Amino acid sequence: EADRVYNFNPGPATLPLEVLKEAQAEFLNFNHSGMSILEISHRAKQYAEVHQQAKADIKELMGLGDDYEVLFCQGGASQQFAMIPLNFATKEHPGSYVLSGSFATKAYKEAELLGVGEVAASSKAVDFRHIPTQDELTINPEAAYVHLCYNNTIYGTEYHYVPDTHGVPLFADMSSDMLSRPVDFQKFDFIYAGVQKNLGPAGVVLVVAKKELLAKSPQTLPTMLRYSTFLEKDSLYNTPPAFCIYMVGKVAAWIKANGGLAEMEKRNQKKAKVVYDAIDNSDGFYRGHADKDSRSFMNVTFRLPSEELEKKFVAEALEHQLSGVKGHRSVGGMRASIYNAMPYEGALRLAEFMEKFRKANA
Ligand code: PMP
Repeated sequence: EADRVYNFNPGPATLPLEVLKEAQAEFLNFNHSGMSILEISHRAKQYAEVHQQAKADIKELMGLGDDYEVLFCQGGASQQFAMIPLNFATKEHPGSYVLSGSFATKAYKEAELLGVGEVAASSKAVDFRHIPTQDELTINPEAAYVHLCYNNTIYGTEYHYVPDTHGVPLFADMSSDMLSRPVDFQKFDFIYAGVQKNLGPAGVVLVVAKKELLAKSPQTLPTMLRYSTFLEKDSLYNTPPAFCIYMVGKVAAWIKANGGLAEMEKRNQKKAKVVYDAIDNSDGFYRGHADKDSRSFMNVTFRLPSEELEKKFVAEALEHQLSGVKGHRSVGGMRASIYNAMPYEGALRLAEFMEKFRKANA
């Protein structure tokens, strides 16, 4: 435990230490089953409790009622990019995409491949430094849905408003900010998230969507590509990634025990502030990638005066137990991911290191 670093990786990412320890403590004999959670049948009573409790806690945290269902899918958020247009878009009623970064664009490309995608707005011309505003969106009233990427993991930008789509169903990829703050989730018809950032280990994708919508999958689609299969069979048509779901359940319980989404937001804002302050008070030594009004509370992206200094920063950060700060190759520079499980001390240590490094290298 003493050897653990502050892990700023974008995903898989840091998880709450309490959750890891709990999983460790019950690893060999889960809930008196005499088996590990890794070994237990997905039809066993002990597993059913895990499955149902995780779903209930997620819905409770999101403040959603019986008109929404939680599904556990596989294939990563990337497979959702394809499943969404396959299930909901047609040539007459295309999926309409807001391009705010690379995953938003990847989602659009899948719809385009199927000939059922269009663009509602794009911030590509400004290097994805900002989130398109309401005024920049072209809403097609015939669209099957408007698709957003609510937090752009690579560019470090995040929505701070819920777009008004004039009744067109609103879909969002929340892979990198799911359950990090209260959102008016009822304004969304379909939300999904690869859980390997804020919610657990890689291997499961959370879908939280209106039941009515999930029931609409075309019967011509292969069984495992239809949302209706997951809805009708409670995500147990085939073997679910039981261990991942168990971990997601533990993280959801941890969020509840720690004050829910309002408290997560408070903590996340406090962490983000200390790191953004280190950028803003650096006399231009650190240059943030995102425009200030689009800044993410989850992924802080910034550059240094030269690539040489950036390499040095990464190496010296590691000597200070600050791991995973190297940015994505498409933006370059640094990226500090400060998800729910990153303690304030980690963000503070990073900010202090930034200040020290600047003084030594400016
Ligand atoms: N969307 C977002 C916002 C992401 O950050 C990522 C992964 N980093 C993905 C989608 C792709 O997720 P996966 O690797 O689970 O397919």
